[in-house]
Amino acid sequence: MDITSLTILELRQKLAAGALRPREIVDQLADRVTAVDSKLKAYLHLDLDKSRAEADAANITLPLGGIPIAVKDVINVKGAPCTCASKILQGYTAPYDATVIRKLREAGAVLFGRTNMDEFAMGSSTENSSWGVTRNPWDLDRIPGGSSGGSAAAVAGHEAFAALGTDTGGSIRQPAALCSCVGLKPTYGRVSRYGLVAFASSLDQIGVFTKTVEEAALLLEIIAGYDPLDNTSIDRPVPKYTAALGRGVRGLRLGVPKEYFVDGMDPEVEKAIRTAIDEYKKQGAEIVEISLPHTQYAVAVYYIIATAECSANLARFDGVRYGKRAQNPKDILDMYGRTRAEGFGAEVKRRIILGTYVLSSGYYDAYYNRAQKVRQLIGEDFRLAFEKCDALLTPTSPTPAFKIGERTADPLQMYLADIFTIAVNLAGICGVSIPCGFTSNKLPIGLQIIGPKWGEETMLRVAHAFEQATPWHKEKPPL
Ligand code: GLN
Repeated sequence: MDITSLTILELRQKLAAGALRPREIVDQLADRVTAVDSKLKAYLHLDLDKSRAEADAANITLPLGGIPIAVKDVINVKGAPCTCASKILQGYTAPYDATVIRKLREAGAVLFGRTNMDEFAMGSSTENSSWGVTRNPWDLDRIPGGSSGGSAAAVAGHEAFAALGTDTGGSIRQPAALCSCVGLKPTYGRVSRYGLVAFASSLDQIGVFTKTVEEAALLLEIIAGYDPLDNTSIDRPVPKYTAALGRGVRGLRLGVPKEYFVDGMDPEVEKAIRTAIDEYKKQGAEIVEISLPHTQYAVAVYYIIATAECSANLARFDGVRYGKRAQNPKDILDMYGRTRAEGFGAEVKRRIILGTYVLSSGYYDAYYNRAQKVRQLIGEDFRLAFEKCDALLTPTSPTPAFKIGERTADPLQMYLADIFTIAVNLAGICGVSIPCGFTSNKLPIGLQIIGPKWGEETMLRVAHAFEQATPWHKEKPPL
């Protein structure tokens, strides 16, 4: 029996019934990786002996007992490499577990492999990885999205049951849409960032990739919660997200923001989203038109704030404490300079330079301060929208997966890949992408459902109602 296409809930049933042992799950997953990862290149590091040992020791009565989970290579797992797909972190070994990893372990999970990503999570295609591009399981000539492209491709390609990712401007939702899986970004402060290598601290949030909405709800229940080690995590009880599912959407008001249906959007994407909206209407939701007037500024504001924060966060990679150090330096400044010149890739350098510029004296008020003000207005747009509706429906990405190499020459084209996901991070609210169809040449399309702060229960309920009525999440790529 091939178990790699099963869901976590199905695995749990089989484990409980004694029809399967945790060790067999790891072994079958490892076989699947051997069969498909030479094509997909979703994984950067695997320690199968360790995963097998964890499986042998797993307590299957726990919520994730014996279930393997893959982890984006930006989250510290004690004793394992954590390179952030950057040469500058080559040779670094994580000295401690991130809080999300501790929580997964406490729930009985088996840690399985680190997944590929854009260097330091900067990108939308996984082409900015120093270790090579991950491929889209639906078309190997195309990108899987990014920056968590390895996690998305691994789950969609059935070489992971679920994976952790991070989302600063869309890095979970966009690759989930392009690979056809569920990708959830929680409300800012819902999940601890302790042990996550910071890109833009006021935007970064850890979330999950799964095959189904119910699994996403289950994993969120496990990784969410207050953490005194992260001063941006919020002390609020964690609801039983799985209990919110199955209640349908009758009586809910679902908003459709008119600014999210723009010129230049792929017509097949637009059609799939309109069809999804009709499905919700059929199920008894009330559809309301919404305006988010500051949407047009989101990409510009994001690329000021995210670069400013990254220029500060990445200052710590200087050859002294972590990973790589340049050889035979003349003096300490030469050592710093050459370590960073040799260690960082082109996109990371571009962002550090941009971020240093927008924070520099004389430009701070013109760029950074103004961006912060417009960020407030974007948040206010959503606050007002959620007075009129319970959740928002939008496309996740304006286009399906593009070809490898198609946008690498033009950073602006690449930045536009996140035009529909970025505002959610700026506002600190939650969003999930779920499969909602395919183009005529069989490329996945994702529907984004956006909820207000702490609105994960309603958001998941809305996502689940669509999933249960449609076949898209059941399709498997022809690998
Ligand atoms: N694509 C966006 C960027 O390049 C978002 C990345 C992310 O969410 N980590 O910054």
